[in-house]
Amino acid sequence: MSDVLTDEQEEFRDSVATITKEGKRNFIHPKKPKGKFYNLRTWFSVFYLVVFFTLPFIKVYGEPLFMFNIVERKFILFGMIFWPQDFFIFGIGMLTFIVFIILFTVVFGRVFCGWACPQTIFMEMVFRKIEYWIDGDATQQRQLKKMPWNGEKIRKRAIKFVVFYTISFIIANFFLAYIVGMDQLLRYVTHPGESIGTLAALLLFTTVFFFVYWWFREQVCIVVCPYGRLQGVLLDANSIVVAYDYKRGEKRGKLTQKEKENLKAGYGRNCSGKSCSGCAHAGK
Ligand code: SF4
Repeated sequence: MSDVLTDEQEEFRDSVATITKEGKRNFIHPKKPKGKFYNLRTWFSVFYLVVFFTLPFIKVYGEPLFMFNIVERKFILFGMIFWPQDFFIFGIGMLTFIVFIILFTVVFGRVFCGWACPQTIFMEMVFRKIEYWIDGDATQQRQLKKMPWNGEKIRKRAIKFVVFYTISFIIANFFLAYIVGMDQLLRYVTHPGESIGTLAALLLFTTVFFFVYWWFREQVCIVVCPYGRLQGVLLDANSIVVAYDYKRGEKRGKLTQKEKENLKAGYGRNCSGKSCSGCAHAGK
């Protein structure tokens, strides 16, 4: 297959899959993934979540291992305290980190997005899995959406709402623990009357998390995340990208026998068996 796509084949670039032609939200119901890499990601995310929920409990010389107390302007990294006067170190560290992110992205593309971003981990490995468990796979989800508000739909939506809101509340609490420390968080929990303002802020953040995972979802990457918006200038043709493979996917529609065989063999959908870039025949 030639590297140059026809205008018709390039059409998929003209629109964002999550937005309709009228500019409304096109809600995606992805099919439940399976396979070796998905299993690996699942195990990695289990490890990630254990670390995320354990770190606030770890202390070094009586101080949390990590704390980002913006209110008191006290930051702790690996048990070492940084005060406002130490901020030049923090600034240099941030600049180094940003350069590292840029270079890492140029080479490895969106590996961070797919494997380690908290948004992805919580969306795909926590909330999406719960959604499959409650609503079923993509087809059942679409059927449920079209269904009138009968007993089954009300029950499933109510369960999903309670579970999503509860998990969002837990996540908000742990984010707060990273800001004020676990001791202070436990004090808020045991003396809720003393800190009505904190409780209100917590519920506000819970609602924001809930909104993101219930409805906003992948729009975070498209609209909000600065890293997502910078991708266009961080990647080149040689970057490893976890993205739609247009050579294998275009032109969409029912597969012919030849196309099925190509995909099964690991080649591009339209592969003619000759050398072209982008499929397993490349360089042969
Ligand atoms: S674009 Fe931003 S929010 Fe989306 S996965 Fe990447 S880092 Fe996370």
